[in-house]
Amino acid sequence: MNILVINCGSSSIKAEIINNLNANRVAEMLIDRISSDKPILNINKSKETIECPENGHEACLKFALPLLLSKLNGSNISGIGHRVVHGGSKFNQPVLIDKEVEETIERLSNLAPLHNPANLKGIKIARAIFPDLPHVAIFDTSFHQTLPTRAYTYALPKNLRDKYGIRRYGFHGSSHQYVANLAAKALNADLKDLRIISCHLGNGASVCAIEYGRSVETSMGLTPLEGLVMGTRAGDIDPGILLHIGRSEELSIDELDEMLNRESGLKGLSNHSNDMRDIIDEAAAGNEDCRLALLVFAHRLRKYIGAYAAVMGGADAIVFTGGIGENSNVVRQRVTQRMEYMGVLPDEDLNNDLSISDEHPFAFFNAPNSRVKLLAVKTDEERAIAAKTARIVNEGNKVNSIPSIPIAISARHIHLTQEVVEQLFGQGYQLTEKSALSQPGQFAANETVTICGPKNTIERVRILGPCRELNQLEISRTDEFFIGIDAPVRASGKVESSPGIKIIGPKGEITLKEGVICAWRHIHMTAEDAAIFEVEDGDIVEVDVKNGDRPLTFGNVLIRVSPKFKLEMHIDTDEANAAELSQNAEGALIKTEGIANLVKKNVRH
Ligand code: ADP
Repeated sequence: MNILVINCGSSSIKAEIINNLNANRVAEMLIDRISSDKPILNINKSKETIECPENGHEACLKFALPLLLSKLNGSNISGIGHRVVHGGSKFNQPVLIDKEVEETIERLSNLAPLHNPANLKGIKIARAIFPDLPHVAIFDTSFHQTLPTRAYTYALPKNLRDKYGIRRYGFHGSSHQYVANLAAKALNADLKDLRIISCHLGNGASVCAIEYGRSVETSMGLTPLEGLVMGTRAGDIDPGILLHIGRSEELSIDELDEMLNRESGLKGLSNHSNDMRDIIDEAAAGNEDCRLALLVFAHRLRKYIGAYAAVMGGADAIVFTGGIGENSNVVRQRVTQRMEYMGVLPDEDLNNDLSISDEHPFAFFNAPNSRVKLLAVKTDEERAIAAKTARIVNEGNKVNSIPSIPIAISARHIHLTQEVVEQLFGQGYQLTEKSALSQPGQFAANETVTICGPKNTIERVRILGPCRELNQLEISRTDEFFIGIDAPVRASGKVESSPGIKIIGPKGEITLKEGVICAWRHIHMTAEDAAIFEVEDGDIVEVDVKNGDRPLTFGNVLIRVSPKFKLEMHIDTDEANAAELSQNAEGALIKTEGIANLVKKNVRH
């Protein structure tokens, strides 16, 4: 299946044809300086460029696309993937484009005035040229829709946040997701078992904390301006600086915009270039401004890496990608030095000799005893977009009738090891069954314990049996605030570096070092169910619930597959209360985007 990927910017358009079966790049083109008198077309990175006869997006695309498609030697394209920078909160997955989707992208233009209007132009022109092909929008923001509220909320007045959709959206999502998947492959591990800090360092740059497959923090915000030092963008600054310079220089909003987006970053710091290669060369030659630019760039990134390790309670790998991350041993070395405190030990020789390519897209540069693995990974946003487009095209709008999903509301509970049961209830004590749970073999025990946080205590917390290998207390956000601790949202069993808790039983007490989580809402199912829903263990899906006249969607629902499970979605009491759901509710119409898998289909009651 050949997929055409179009990345339509305001001054340039990139397009590639990718064969999705073998992920080979069949042909590519770049049209530059679209609005100038002489837009330039380059096909397959040829030394010869072609002048487009007319300027403007429409004329250039109409001229260039047939030339690009001629490289297919007669075979067809099956679908077109369009990169769209801002999907707001509306799009948390790729979507087939129709009139309504176009209108929504247009409405979101106020959040990305530099990008979305150009992306939309490309969509409209391509849909007019190829009206019979499926067109799919892939959003830079959608991977970050799993950010927890605490990470995406700015401390600004609520009415303004609500009115203007002010929150952290994050960008470079396709790239962060793609390199994290490749890193997991390189580590021969499952992405769902890894905490990865992904550093995309190109002209635009961002860091992302990917905890067990989900983006949980990222440095770009409402717009791609926040965070790292970039080619021409400032990244983080004290917002008071804008007020100060704006007032003192009597600058308009547009002038401030120009300063932050086009005159700052490496360019502003160095007063020389926005290109990291020039900065490094000049710094070596003694240019003090370029030295400063390099220092500030690396320092900012080091701060983020430390912060994101703190957010995830540690890291298993740090990934460097984008033009700078893939190619600059100098930047990688400056960033990863003096990080022994968090288990990072780079190997200087490996870093200096490192090279990656389409054929060998990743390379390690950590010392053998480094607890955190260090990798450079070649990103390929076009391949990522082509793969997502192909999945949507394959699935089409298939509507299947498959089972509804019963929803169970999970009250606070605790799983204990036999050893801890004996400490709390006496030597040799065995839990006794009060009632069977819907998941086969599981039971609510007659026994309860008291849990003690720094602020409050909760009595009669039910123990669920049988005993497990790890202690795990699952509580709701409301419970967290009540007892005064801050627990991460985690899948069951992922208790590493979660907070501890004091537990009191009738015969003793114990303070667990870790084990308190806020359970990630999830669906239990068998492999047979998973085959019917076309999902895999670890996929993240959406479930629509018909709830009287108040329909709602649960996003970010984790799929858990085991032969021991019975089909059931588990939410906690807070979620059930907020949704006004009672026991016996059922999930309907499930749209899914997995980490490894993406399906779109309907489910009926
Ligand atoms: P974009 O965000 O436009 O896709 P890229 O990912 O291509 O950008 O990255 C461009 C950046 O990568 C530029 O700053 C360029 O200087 C930098 N870069 C490319 N090769 C090297 C290198 N060998 N050493 C340092 N920086 C490099």
